[in-house]
Amino acid sequence: MHEMPVTQALLDLALEHAGGRRITDIYLQVGRMAAIVPDSVEVFFEYLSEGTLAEGARLHFEMVPLEMTCLDCGSKQDLSAWADQPPHTILQNAFARGCACGGKNLRVTGGVSFGLVSIDVEPES
Ligand SMILES: [Zn+2]
Repeated sequence: MHEMPVTQALLDLALEHAGGRRITDIYLQVGRMAAIVPDSVEVFFEYLSEGTLAEGARLHFEMVPLEMTCLDCGSKQDLSAWADQPPHTILQNAFARGCACGGKNLRVTGGVSFGLVSIDVEPES
């Protein structure tokens, strides 16, 4: 359950950016490979934000697709055909297929991050 420390870090960062104002919305990016379960983040957030200026804020998750790049020719691999598959299956398929250039040196270059994109705060009254 590594979402808990991650959610705490996220909350700290959001509160820091809010500068003492109440947070209404928090926008997050979640890579398909980040192994973050949005539902768990929601649960921990509700618990951790209690009594803070972020209490009751809505979380918005943007899922970022997995991206792989060939280290031999630099081309990005088209993984869209497998987009519905679990990430480890996509990786297996991509490594098995290799690159169109014949290269097998594929590296995951996207979809691994989890982070805060922006926050909305209540206007100062
Ligand atoms: Zn290549």
